[in-house]
Amino acid sequence: MKKFETEAIRTQTERTQFLEHSTPMYLTSSFVFEDAEDMRASFAEEKERNIYSRYSNPTNNELVEKVCKMEGADTGFAFASGMAAVFSTLAALVETGDHILSARSIFGSTHTLFTKFLPKWGVTSSYFPIDDLDAAETMITPQTKIIYAESPTNPGVDVLDLERLGQLAKKHNLIFIVDNCFATPYIQQPIKFGADLVIHSGTKLMDGQGRVLAGITVGSAALMDKVYRFSRITGPALSPFNAWVLTKSLETLAVRLDRHCENALKLAQFLEGHPKVSWVKYPFLKSHPMYAVAKKQMKAGGSIVAFEVKGGIEAGKQFFDSIKMLSLSANLGDSRSIVTHPASTTHSKLSVEERLESGITDGSVRVSVGLEHIDDIISDIKQALG
Ligand SMILES: *Cc1c(COP(=O)(O)O)cnc(C)c1O
Repeated sequence: MKKFETEAIRTQTERTQFLEHSTPMYLTSSFVFEDAEDMRASFAEEKERNIYSRYSNPTNNELVEKVCKMEGADTGFAFASGMAAVFSTLAALVETGDHILSARSIFGSTHTLFTKFLPKWGVTSSYFPIDDLDAAETMITPQTKIIYAESPTNPGVDVLDLERLGQLAKKHNLIFIVDNCFATPYIQQPIKFGADLVIHSGTKLMDGQGRVLAGITVGSAALMDKVYRFSRITGPALSPFNAWVLTKSLETLAVRLDRHCENALKLAQFLEGHPKVSWVKYPFLKSHPMYAVAKKQMKAGGSIVAFEVKGGIEAGKQFFDSIKMLSLSANLGDSRSIVTHPASTTHSKLSVEERLESGITDGSVRVSVGLEHIDDIISDIKQALG
């Protein structure tokens, strides 16, 4: 195994007779067989080979192999979106009657999956407070099968102690799943801290340029075998075209993330001294409540900064309306900086109390810090605050 950056670039499908330099794209739904015996042996899984792109495809395999190396995982499967990865992974592992213990702060659609859809199949879930893992332990029941968490969280930019969660999962013989979308494997590798499976929305920083939807789950061979068997039948596979876009994107993940994180830290430091800002949250600011844990498990602070504009929901909206260059968009992890005001947009249907439980105050703003020059990013935010 070479260094992270090198594997990200040099992990490539075997070169064809055309001696291409950049990786080719295998835009094909199916594959041919030599003869009847070849076909029989392939279907009997006596051979490891591509049969049909719902099962596997060389371009998808390249992407999966690359992410496995990045995360330190045995094997994986690439999905059409991050949510396809979340749903298929859980659906493959749970039985009726099972319970999922999840961190309270999770991605909105994952929350809806836990509360609206999984209960249809008799799968329940409950949320533990992210700042009290002792309380989390008391919530484990004989039915609990999975511990589910994201760190850093969205949109609160809170940090969970992955090592402690990993120990908790091991002690109670539970499957520990981490959605590592906000950090990426360049910054944080949850398997090192005891995660069994790691899920990504490739749509975010992995692509990093806002072009494709994608998802991926990687982890232990035994669990991934179940995920694979479920997924090759139910059909959430990633298009090889999107897999190709993503495997090329990963060649630049390290250099992009270095700049994302450098810009985000500078923005966080600027905001910390601003008179119109009541608080700033960024994992690598000393003021972050989980700074020590962030330093232990992350290589850098990530690309998301949260802060509170003084003056509540109206001030938040006014700040939002005064932004000139940054994009007002629901996406994140893009080369373009994006600003969102969760209280008046993505989380407006929640009550004030529910929002507070997810770490969202009325004036809180989330910035996905992009790759524009930091001076221009700060200058836009400065004028919008003024
Ligand atoms: C966006 C996101 C997802 C879902 O990914 P899609 O590709 O949009 O389906 C899941 N988890 C987190 C943390 C995300 O930010």
